[in-house]
Formats: sequence, structure tokens, C-alpha cells
Amino acid sequence: MGKHSACPICGSKALTPRREKLRDSDTIAVLQCGACQHVFLDSFDHVDDEYFVNDTFLLSKPFLHGIEQRLRHYEAENQERAARIGPLVLNKRVLEFGCGAGALMEKIAPMVSSIEGLERTAGFRARLQGKGYTILQDLSETSGQYDVILMFHVLEHLSDAIGSIRGCIERLAPNGLLYIEVPNVEDALLTLYDVGEYRKFHFFKDHLHYFSRSSLTEAARRAGAEPVSISGHSRFGLANHMYWLRHGRPGGHLIWNFLETPSTRLEYGRALAAANMSDSLIAQIRRPS
Ligand SMILES: [Zn+2]
Repeated sequence: MGKHSACPICGSKALTPRREKLRDSDTIAVLQCGACQHVFLDSFDHVDDEYFVNDTFLLSKPFLHGIEQRLRHYEAENQERAARIGPLVLNKRVLEFGCGAGALMEKIAPMVSSIEGLERTAGFRARLQGKGYTILQDLSETSGQYDVILMFHVLEHLSDAIGSIRGCIERLAPNGLLYIEVPNVEDALLTLYDVGEYRKFHFFKDHLHYFSRSSLTEAARRAGAEPVSISGHSRFGLANHMYWLRHGRPGGHLIWNFLETPSTRLEYGRALAAANMSDSLIAQIRRPS
């Protein structure tokens, strides 16, 4: 492995260092591909097969102690995701790749014909197995085909992003859907507002990849499929952004919540998506029939 000399998505060697540093490492740098605009860590060596197994991964955020607190923290977002994908999963055979503690699985379970999860983190897996869910550790354990595979904020953690997309597509039924949401490196806080404190916060060891619209498209193509659509999605809105600009800290959406009326949330999100400055990207990829 070692340091990357080529883009892990398109293979171009036209790489330039980004100015940002990781918030949790002094030895890993951030690179950008001049061809597909993919941004990535210059080494993936710190992530091995066991990296995701230990519960301290993802539970290490200072405001999240334990699985139950984590579930409460993300409850509103999981409600939004369940409402968004409901029409896509109705009466379908579904796999959630990287299902975490399973909050989304539990919400959509009544709508689907079957649901399985894939999760490496032992504590999350144990919780769901205790509730009777089938939780795989690896794609190689799957049997049969799925109509829908969901990946919410997972792909950016995986060394072999293209191989993971390809593995999912191979396990879809004809016309099946792979639904991927990842952070967008063209996020307004990095591009339009250029918040210095956000630059120090945004890049960290767990995120190996920082997809752009073009690098996410390229990853799907190299995995053998053409995305049906790539759209912008805002996890965070005006309150969060204004707070970053004023205080240089996260969490503004929980404090300046009065700015988040339904209409500002909708219109601000639309404006960012139209300008490709949303904080997240959604790729919908269909397996050819
Ligand atoms: Zn590239």
C-alpha cells in the first residue's frame, strides 16, 4: 500500500496536495485528483480489516457515549431518510450496507418484503442480531439477490470504493437499485464560504474518500454502471452554516434552530443543490436489466 501515487478512482497521476490537514493525524495528507476532482487521503494504511470492528469506531465522538445516545442523536435524520426512501423500498428485498445500530432498518422493516444489514462493528451487529435481524459481515456472505441496496455515508470509509460498488451491483436483481449517499467535497462551507475552522474539522482519518460529483460518477462507471442520477442533499442548513461563519464550530443547527423554518430549510437546500454546494451527494445506480 503506502502513499498513493495515483487517484484511487480514475487512476490519474495528476495529483496535487490540498491545503487542509486532518483533525486527527499529523502524518496523513489530503490529495486532489486533477482529472476527476476526487479528494482522498494520501495513505489508507491505517484502515485494515479490523478497523471497523471495535466499537470505539464511530462511538468516539465526544458527544456520543454509547449506542443508545447515538441512536437518539441521529433519530431525526433517520426519520428523514426513511421518509425519503420509503417509495423506493416498498415490498422490495433490501440490504443496508453499513447499517450501524440499525435505526433506519427498524423504520423501514414494515415496508419491505425482506431486509438484511451488513455491519462490521461488533456492538451494532450484536444489538440487531438480538432483535432477530440477519446481519452480514461481508458481501461474500450474501445469498440471492436484492432489489435495493442502501449505503448511507459508508462508501467514503472503504479503501476499495469501486470494488465495493461493483460487489453491490453484482448482488442486485435486474433493474435493482443501489442508493449511495456520501459527503460532497464541494460543500458550500468549503467552497463558497471557505470557513477556515471547517477546513480543520472536515478531514479526518475515518473518511478516506471525499467525493465530488464527477468522481462519484466516475466510480460508478468504473464499477460497470452508469448512475441514473446524482443529486445534492443537505443534511445541514442555514442555522448550521451561519453558526460556522460566526463561531467556527459545529452544532449550530441545534442552537440557532429558529432559522430552520420548513421553507428556509427547503429553499436553502434547493439553492445549494442547484449550485452543487450541498453537503451530501446521492447517486442512484440501476443494474442493467
Ligand atoms: Zn481521479
